[in-house]
Amino acid sequence: MDNFEKISALVSEAEKKLSDIFAEIDRISFANTKKIMDSFKSHRVSETMFAATSGYGYDDHGRETLDEIWADVMGAEAAFVRHNIVNGTQALTIGLFGLLRPNDIMFSIAGKPYDTLDEVIGNTGEAGNGSLRDFGVEYMQCDLLENGDFDFDRIGEVLHAHKDRIKVVFIQRSKGYLNRKTLSVDEIGEAVKFVKDIHPDCFVVVDNCYGEFVEEREPTAVGADMIIGSLIKNPGGGMAETGGYIAGSARAVELASYRLTSVGCGLEVGATLGQNKNIFKGLFYAPHTTAQAIKTAHLAAYIFEALGYEVEPAWNVQRHDIIQAIVTHSREALCAFCRGIQYGSPIDAYVTPEPWAMPGYSDEVIMAAGAFTQGSSIELSADGPLREPFTAFLQGGLTYESGKIGIISAALEVMKLKS
Ligand SMILES: *Cc1c(COP(=O)(O)O)cnc(C)c1O
Repeated sequence: MDNFEKISALVSEAEKKLSDIFAEIDRISFANTKKIMDSFKSHRVSETMFAATSGYGYDDHGRETLDEIWADVMGAEAAFVRHNIVNGTQALTIGLFGLLRPNDIMFSIAGKPYDTLDEVIGNTGEAGNGSLRDFGVEYMQCDLLENGDFDFDRIGEVLHAHKDRIKVVFIQRSKGYLNRKTLSVDEIGEAVKFVKDIHPDCFVVVDNCYGEFVEEREPTAVGADMIIGSLIKNPGGGMAETGGYIAGSARAVELASYRLTSVGCGLEVGATLGQNKNIFKGLFYAPHTTAQAIKTAHLAAYIFEALGYEVEPAWNVQRHDIIQAIVTHSREALCAFCRGIQYGSPIDAYVTPEPWAMPGYSDEVIMAAGAFTQGSSIELSADGPLREPFTAFLQGGLTYESGKIGIISAALEVMKLKS
C-alpha cells in the first residue's frame, strides 16, 4: 500500500466510527437552520431587503430586519450586525467601551482573554493610546482551574470584595489558541447564574468567537448580557465578506450601539452598500458551514491520532468550538502539516507557506490559509508558533469534502517525513 492508499483506508475507517457523531452534528445544524428559517419567515424576509443604501442609511429595512433576526436567533433581546466592523477585536472593543466607565472594573473569569485584547485593555502597549486603562478602567482576572472549570470560590471572593466597581464580567467561550478547555453553553449558563446571584447589576459579556452554532443555544439564551463575534468565522457562513456582531439585552446593545456610531445616533444610521444579501445568506448557511468545519475537525483528530500525534480534543469528544489542536513536537512536522493544508486548499494551493517573524509575536509563526476571503477562519486554515510543543491549530472547512481533501493532503506531507 502506498501512503495515499493508507490514508484513504484510514479515512474510511474514521468515517464509519464517526457516523453517530456526524449524525448528531447534522441534528444540531438542522435545529439551528430551522430556527433561522422560522425567523426569516416571521420577519417576512424578501428581496427588497437586499437593496443597497448609501449616505446615512436611514430606514435601511434590510439592516433593521437583520438586526432583529440576529437577536431572535441568538436568543437575545437585541442585536446589531454590521459589515463595517473590521474584525472580532473591533466588535469586542465596541462592546467593552460601550459598557465600561471610569473607575469600573472589568473582571475576566475564564483566564486571559484573546491576545488582541491585551492592548485594548491596556495590559500591553503604550500608555496614552486610548486603552480602557487610559480611561480609568481597571482589569482583574481569575484563571480557570487546572481541570478547565470555573474557579467559583475565587470568583465569589472577588465579586463580593469589589461588587460596587465590577461592571463587566468577561468570559471567553473558545479556547482560542490557548491550552485550555472550551466552555460549553451550559457551563457558561452556570457561571452567569453564579455571578448574577451575587451581583445582579453587572453585565456578563461573552467573547463568542468560534462558538456560534456549534450548539443549539448561544450564551445569550442562558442569561449572558452580551455576546460578540466575527463574521469571517462561524456566523458569516463563509459568505459574509467582512463584519462583526453584538447581541444581548436591550440596554447592553443600546450602550454598544452608541459606541458603534455615536451617542444619540445608535442604530438609526449605517449605509449597507449592498452587503445585506451576503450577511442574510451567510446566516442562512452558517449552521451548515459550521457543521462542515466541526466534521473536518473530528476527522483531523482521528487521522492524526492514528498517525501517532497528540490531538486536542480527542476525535470522539463533543465539540464546543471549531478548533482542533494537533501537537507535533517537531518543527518539521508542524511545517509539513501546514504545507499540506495549503496544498489542499481551494485558493493558493500552489503556494508553500514558510515560517516568519510576525510582528507582535515572540516566536516565528507558520500559517496555511488558502481562503476565498482573506483571513477567514471558517475556511480551512491552520497555524502554529514554532516553539515546543509545536502545536498546529486547525479550523474551518467550508465543505466537509474540501476539508477532507485538506486533511488527506496534510497527512501525506507529514508521512513523507517518516518514510
Ligand atoms: C478570532 C477571535 C477573536 C477576534 O479576532 P479577530 O482576528 O480580530 O477577528 C477574539 N477572540 C477569540 C477567541 C477569537 O477566536
